[in-house]
Amino acid sequence: MSLLKLENLSVTFGNFRAVDQISYSVNEGEVLGIVGESGSGKSVSSLSLMGLIDYPGKVSADELTFMDQDLLSMPEAQRRKITGSDIAMIFQDPMTSLNPCFTVGYQIIEALKTHQGGTKKELKKRAIELLTLVGIPAPETRLSAYPHQLSGGMSQRVMIAIAIACNPKLLIADEPTTALDVTIQAQIIDLLIDLQEQKQMGLVLITHDLALVAEVAHRVIVMYAGQIVESGPASEVFSAPQHPYTQALLASLPESAAGKARLEALPGVVPGQYDRPKGCLLSPRCPYATDHCRNVEPASQGPLERQVKCHTPLNAQGRPAA
Ligand code: SF4
Ligand code: MG
Repeated sequence: MSLLKLENLSVTFGNFRAVDQISYSVNEGEVLGIVGESGSGKSVSSLSLMGLIDYPGKVSADELTFMDQDLLSMPEAQRRKITGSDIAMIFQDPMTSLNPCFTVGYQIIEALKTHQGGTKKELKKRAIELLTLVGIPAPETRLSAYPHQLSGGMSQRVMIAIAIACNPKLLIADEPTTALDVTIQAQIIDLLIDLQEQKQMGLVLITHDLALVAEVAHRVIVMYAGQIVESGPASEVFSAPQHPYTQALLASLPESAAGKARLEALPGVVPGQYDRPKGCLLSPRCPYATDHCRNVEPASQGPLERQVKCHTPLNAQGRPAA
């Protein structure tokens, strides 16, 4: 069953398109990976789903629905109810997402209270269950801890406990492990995937870590400069990328870059507000760019479940087909 559906969603700040007409859906029990360099619009697009784009940002879409309910036209209060319970989000830095002034127990119980009732005793019991579920040792004693008394990994576990407190159907995780030590990162991802499978949640995993997405995602979306440049089943996109940008991202992974001096995807950076090129947005960085690319923006092509936005998608040998 489809949980979230968006069609031609854009987020604009003045005349800058931070997110430019993206379309995708997330199903129950599905892990969707969204990858791209910083500045590609990954986070902004997710914040827009949560209704977290502040003025002067503007969100528009032909469709933005959660379980067939129109998120854009519903009253603000109703939307907040959905985005606080059925859809939950975990951010990059647990230290800044937790309130330093309140204990862990207080913050989890507040999250529980907002969406389900219960006596003080019941709420406390549920908070302990949640801390146990996310693998926090001695949960009873942790309830009275303040965020600064926890390690980064423990704080992110608490954030996950808060996010799943209301049994969300969809969890959006924006770079959930970037701020953590490498050894802790894998544990947090394992925890997220465990919970996702147990609860059959939809999970949107936003990351610049392609290797991670290749490992855990069912489907993947590759974003560049606010646009989706390639999408499809993760196994297909990673084994036979059709977009030059995806190819470059994959080539920059450590294992394929053995012997190469540089690890960056392509020379240059994602264009910003004032340096958006004409034609294909990748054309200044693309090794296959032609004059046609520099003048005419490519349309997305291919079946809905395997799209690529390039004039000459790469073939199985990794070369432009035409
Ligand atoms: Fe490269 Fe041209 Fe394809 Fe853009 S349209 S990605 S410039 S080959
Ligand atoms: Mg981001």
